[in-house]
Amino acid sequence: MAQLLLKGDPIGNFQGVLFDKDGTLSRSEPHLLALADARINTAIGIAQDLAPALQSSELSDTLRRAFGVDNGLLDPGGTLAVASRQDNIASTATVFCLLGCSWPQALTMAHTCFDAVEQSGLIDTTPSPLIHGAGPLLRDLHQQGVTAAVISNDTRSGIEDFLAHHQLSAGVTGIWSADDHPRKPDPQAVLELCDRLDLPPQRCALIGDAETDLQMALEAGIGGVIGFTGGWKRAPELPSAQHLLHSWTDLALSTAA
Ligand SMILES: [Mg+2]
Repeated sequence: MAQLLLKGDPIGNFQGVLFDKDGTLSRSEPHLLALADARINTAIGIAQDLAPALQSSELSDTLRRAFGVDNGLLDPGGTLAVASRQDNIASTATVFCLLGCSWPQALTMAHTCFDAVEQSGLIDTTPSPLIHGAGPLLRDLHQQGVTAAVISNDTRSGIEDFLAHHQLSAGVTGIWSADDHPRKPDPQAVLELCDRLDLPPQRCALIGDAETDLQMALEAGIGGVIGFTGGWKRAPELPSAQHLLHSWTDLALSTAA
């Protein structure tokens, strides 16, 4: 158990802290923007082969909006920033449908596009950088006996690789990934993760950069719901946050009695 201090003010005593990954622990925006470009360019190539009636410029603009890319910035509440790969495939297929494809053709083209990007080697698979200050906080939690876990819509291997790359694996006790069921943002995901950690939800804090993370935490009865706004060039809007955190260096621990 430890008391969390936000800019020196106590915000509660917690036995566990659940962290989102992308945009919270991980500076994911450059990687996701490169991924969006690769998917859009690949989708245009596939459409030229399989659905030549589609206008490339219209496809590009609509996919950009669907992914949440605007003037070189990523919408932190958009599909690419928040949703799973599977949901992004559905979103891409929906764009193909809007432009005149049947759903079966659209779904096939979306799967082909995502698979082709992953097999192309165009996307750097090195884990994204850790956001400044997140590492020391995770190490402090570990030293003070507070359980840390990651709940993310990345794959389990993606989360494990990220933690290992930043030498944080030892300090993170639990992982809930897109490979677990139900996936985030189902509140049951939080409840089952807490159960796995043997912690009551009300004794845990959850820190995330998406409104869906925070609503999920509230519905699951999490004791401290903290919105992180420092992970994107355009700060996310997080009306459900009980506390807002812009820099990890603003969060500290003091051992509770
Ligand atoms: Mg996130």
